[in-house]
Amino acid sequence: MNLRDYIASIPNYPSEGIIFRDISPLMADGEAYRYATHQIVEYAKEKQIDMVVGPEARGFIVGCPVAYELGVGFAPVRKKGKLPRKTIEVSYDLEYGSDTLTIHEDAIKPGQRVLICDDLLATGGTIKATIELVEKLGGVVAGCAFLIELNDLNGREKIKDYDIITLMDY
Ligand code: IMP
Repeated sequence: MNLRDYIASIPNYPSEGIIFRDISPLMADGEAYRYATHQIVEYAKEKQIDMVVGPEARGFIVGCPVAYELGVGFAPVRKKGKLPRKTIEVSYDLEYGSDTLTIHEDAIKPGQRVLICDDLLATGGTIKATIELVEKLGGVVAGCAFLIELNDLNGREKIKDYDIITLMDY
């Protein structure tokens, strides 16, 4: 199966000059969604994963079925103010301004092996902040899985010390 057939490319969204890669057609097709999930599950199988973590919102879409299939739990990473209990936070720079991601402070137990999932690796800012959250809680980042990698933005360089898999690149 060629997963690229299930990615929609939208020119000039959300701003002029950007090509947005949309995973909705992949999610909408049961066979493609399952195939992509299985690729990540196969990658994770040898890594003795204890927990899957994903940043909102598309990290949930990719990470939850992987966690389910591995038989482990899933912990959400969310924008500041969205999680109801005590959290820890990490801020990171965006093109304009900054953003803060949070995770419940009891989401990961020290020493647990974590797989981080998201839909797309661009500059690497989101994954870097998510890795920092997991490590602050004492988790071990055993791998990072993405459906898509945007080569020009060099996000891979930002996380070069970590094991990663991407199913497609542009
Ligand atoms: P980064 O932090 O620059 O690596 O951007 C990655 C984050 O932004 C991910 O959580 C993606 O969901 C989102 N993102 C950036 N560009 C795109 C895109 O073209 N399609 C879908 N999501 C994107």
